[in-house]
Amino acid sequence: MQPQQKVTASAYRSLIGQNGDRLAALRQQMDFINTIGKRFVAAIDRFQVHRALLSTLQDLYHFSACSILLEEDPIELTFQLSIIPSHPLNQAFIAAMMESIARAAEVIDFPRVTADELALMAYLDAPDDLAWSDSATPSAVTGIGDFLNIPLTVENRIIGMLSLFDEREGVFDAELLQLTTMIADYAAVALENVRLRERERALWRDAEMERQRLVLIINSMAEGLLITNEEGAITSLNNSAQHLLFQARLPLEETSTPLRRLAAFNEAKWLTDLADIIDKALAGHIIMGHELVADASDEAVPLTLSISAAPLYDSRQSMQTRILGVVAVLNDITSHKQLEKLKDEFVSIVSHELRTPLTTIKGYTQHLIRRIERRLRGTSATLPANAVAELPESYDLRSLNIMQSQTDHLERLVNDLLDLSRVQWGELNLHYSSFYLADVLAESVRLAQISAEQHTIFLDIDTPDSKLVADKLRISQVVGNILDNAVKFSPQGKQVTVILKEQGKEFQVSISDRGIGVSPDFFDHIFERFYRVRNTASRQYSGIGMGLFIAKAIVEAHGGGIWLSSNPGTGSTFYFTLPKVPRTGMLPAV
Ligand code: ADP
Repeated sequence: MQPQQKVTASAYRSLIGQNGDRLAALRQQMDFINTIGKRFVAAIDRFQVHRALLSTLQDLYHFSACSILLEEDPIELTFQLSIIPSHPLNQAFIAAMMESIARAAEVIDFPRVTADELALMAYLDAPDDLAWSDSATPSAVTGIGDFLNIPLTVENRIIGMLSLFDEREGVFDAELLQLTTMIADYAAVALENVRLRERERALWRDAEMERQRLVLIINSMAEGLLITNEEGAITSLNNSAQHLLFQARLPLEETSTPLRRLAAFNEAKWLTDLADIIDKALAGHIIMGHELVADASDEAVPLTLSISAAPLYDSRQSMQTRILGVVAVLNDITSHKQLEKLKDEFVSIVSHELRTPLTTIKGYTQHLIRRIERRLRGTSATLPANAVAELPESYDLRSLNIMQSQTDHLERLVNDLLDLSRVQWGELNLHYSSFYLADVLAESVRLAQISAEQHTIFLDIDTPDSKLVADKLRISQVVGNILDNAVKFSPQGKQVTVILKEQGKEFQVSISDRGIGVSPDFFDHIFERFYRVRNTASRQYSGIGMGLFIAKAIVEAHGGGIWLSSNPGTGSTFYFTLPKVPRTGMLPAV
């Protein structure tokens, strides 16, 4: 390394004065500038820049103090003033410096700042070797003899001002102004670099703190959080997710292996389900509240997780089309499931208990109806028809018929309640047999017509052969539920039409009414459990929203589909399809 060259005013003067050997002079000049440059480049904080500045200036001049006024934040208009003394200064001299700096700042177009403000923010950066001992008493001189102000500029922007002060007059040599300005430029660049470095460090510190705060929040979340990369491999798991996966006997970790591949080597079926969900989200879909039965143990209610997943888009892209991975939230919903099971069991027990007295009531009502009918038949032979209608027995018969139809209604409700929990827990056992769908439709229409005195129900069988293998009772339940609704929700429209069609390997049944109709907004919901459209048109009708839920479950268990087309005010058509023969895998193993 080249030994540091001492820069002195006389050396510089002699350097520029010797014209004899211009090349040597130029080389020396370069060395001189190089030496100064190195001092500033080596400075890593503003105090080191101050030191470099002080020593460089002291090589040129003898002065009492120098000061650096810097804008700290151009938006908030905050400043920084450092006073670097060469020897101890007294208060009056410092106060005179403040006045001088405030005046000069105004002249160089620096934002306005008063001497008092400067005094408040001033920072005395005295070099360590400066004797502040008692022996070194501050100079008695209170006034400024001479001063020099040089704006500090970076890329043509004034970032501050360098000032030199001395007690004596005429010390600042105009000849050295150019060199001093160059030194000020070096200092300005060094100070700006330090400022940028400090800002960068502060930003990093803030970012790191924010990152740590996020990690803390994520790990304190009660919900499990799982993040994957674009291959579907887990890159991050919070504490709750780790705990849930551990409970599910699948202690997954952050790994580079995609879940799909992990699932291929693992017996847990739910891992395949999880991989499916992640793949769907990677394809750009949002999955909400999907249930994952995570544990196949013999528990009545196995560990059940609810998972919601969404694609994680690249935020750097303005269009946000690139998917970087998936963020998924896991919730343990086992206790909800347990409660649901308990509630369903309760409903099921109560329904069972209700069935026995109902059967008895129904039996006795039928018995009484038959007896009265027999008696009336005997009487009608001797009396004219209108006289029979007036008999007390005829009145009893009418009452008993109402009782019977209401008991039937109650029985259907109780049966629906029982079915509800069966559907819920996948216990809807189907009993397949071969029969003609046309017969089931005819019987359902006949039964519905009995209680629908206001309506005419038409049946249109559009196929010569309606042979079907299915659960006959369940299929008539589907038709009954839809027909009941068609009658119930069309008090004005007197016509209901049932059409049976053959469509390849399927039958399609449609049931149309001219009733209040359903807005398309509710199409997806009306097949949900306990869902009832609540608007002015439908509010007056009784019901608990089980019929369509059960109908859907039965049709789907047969491998068919159910849907509707409707418009409010003009009526609805409900469709369902059934495969003529159950698909492989649908029949129970014998
Ligand atoms: P419930 O009839 O007991 O209310 P359902 O599950 O059978 O229950 O029907 C659910 C809801 O769908 C009904 O409450 C009603 O709002 C609507 N709905 C069903 N069928 C019809 C229909 N034919 N016309 C108009 N609305 C209907």
